[in-house]
Amino acid sequence: MSSLVIGLTGGIASGKTTISDRFASYGVDIIDADVIAREVVAKGSPGLQDIVDEFGPDILTADSTLDRQTLRNIVFSEPAKKEWLNALLHPLIREQMQIQTAQATSPYCILSIPLLVENQLHELVDRTLVVDIDESSQLERAMSRDKSEQAVIEGIMASQVSRATRLAAADDVISNNKDLNWLHTQVEQLHKMYLNIVNENL
Ligand code: ATP
Repeated sequence: MSSLVIGLTGGIASGKTTISDRFASYGVDIIDADVIAREVVAKGSPGLQDIVDEFGPDILTADSTLDRQTLRNIVFSEPAKKEWLNALLHPLIREQMQIQTAQATSPYCILSIPLLVENQLHELVDRTLVVDIDESSQLERAMSRDKSEQAVIEGIMASQVSRATRLAAADDVISNNKDLNWLHTQVEQLHKMYLNIVNENL
């Protein structure tokens, strides 16, 4: 088991995946909450069966996978359904994050949780690494990656905690306002720092 768990968080399109890929290139184990969120409702999973029991078989596509768009439409229009879904999924995701973190073997591991601050998941990690980005770059990158309208991205940004609130929760900050070279330099520095912390505590 890794002796240090770093929680990586940041808003939409802030650069979490780009950063965790870079950490992974140093052999650091990455546990990704977004991947786990898909795994717990994968085809044939108990989580998906619970959703079918609640919403009926129309929540499945023809090949028996979750019809995400239909589910999104339902929870968007019915807050009680959204609450039910969160009550099902949050414990499943949390449990998997803990299991996979316990299985990590690199000296430290990264637990990437987009909504770490929103969902107050600090107790799952030893240190919180926040990706900081100015809102205009964030909007630009999200629109270009997702081919989405500005209003859609602004809506998502508004539903997430503010830049200041996220920064207030940070032990470490990585700034992603410039080019990839600069980002990679910061990852390298953080990697060395995390290895030092692990070695000091041996
Ligand atoms: P989300 O949580 O929304 O899935 P994310 O935080 O994982 O996003 P990425 O997917 O890593 O963010 O990055 C968002 C987009 O910005 C991607 O298209 C990525 O290639 C690009 N990007 C990330 N960092 C930089 C950078 N320093 N310069 C230019 N483009 C970047």
